[in-house]
Amino acid sequence: MAKLKIFYYPDKVLTLKAAPVTDFGPELETLAQDMLETMDESEGVGLAAPQVGVSKRLLVLCEPEGEPMCLVNPVIKESEGREYGEEGCLSLPKMYARVPRATHIKVSAQDIRGVPVEFEANNFLARIIQHECDHLEGIVFPDRLDAFTREEVIEQWETVRKNLKKPKDVRQRA
Ligand code: ZN
Repeated sequence: MAKLKIFYYPDKVLTLKAAPVTDFGPELETLAQDMLETMDESEGVGLAAPQVGVSKRLLVLCEPEGEPMCLVNPVIKESEGREYGEEGCLSLPKMYARVPRATHIKVSAQDIRGVPVEFEANNFLARIIQHECDHLEGIVFPDRLDAFTREEVIEQWETVRKNLKKPKDVRQRA
């Protein structure tokens, strides 16, 4: 396994709509394993392929105390409820904001071998999945904020980014 480079906002790869995964095989499994390791080392709870420069619909996540999970071509089919909660992002390390998300979602996806899966997720898990699925649409969490807060976060991030020397300095979440 290898640690991958995480792309920071506003890299172009983070703004693209990612392409569906069509090739299932050892290469995809290696990418998912590397993403899990990269997420772990960065103390994150989720990571989408565009964040490591791969514009494909693949994401990994792990709830605190939970099992690591890998979702391919995920689709949020239903969502209910709404709650503000603090979010961060490995592509904007050290930045946090309260982001509104649905509290209950129904997800369909494929596992790493291409087998269809369908499940429901609530609260924090639902939040992680919504955050990571946003990455597959080229959306980052500041895009979910009101214009004023968004501008504030982006402005702070510009300063923070200048002071980030190595990815080692990264201590963050999704
Ligand atoms: Zn993120």
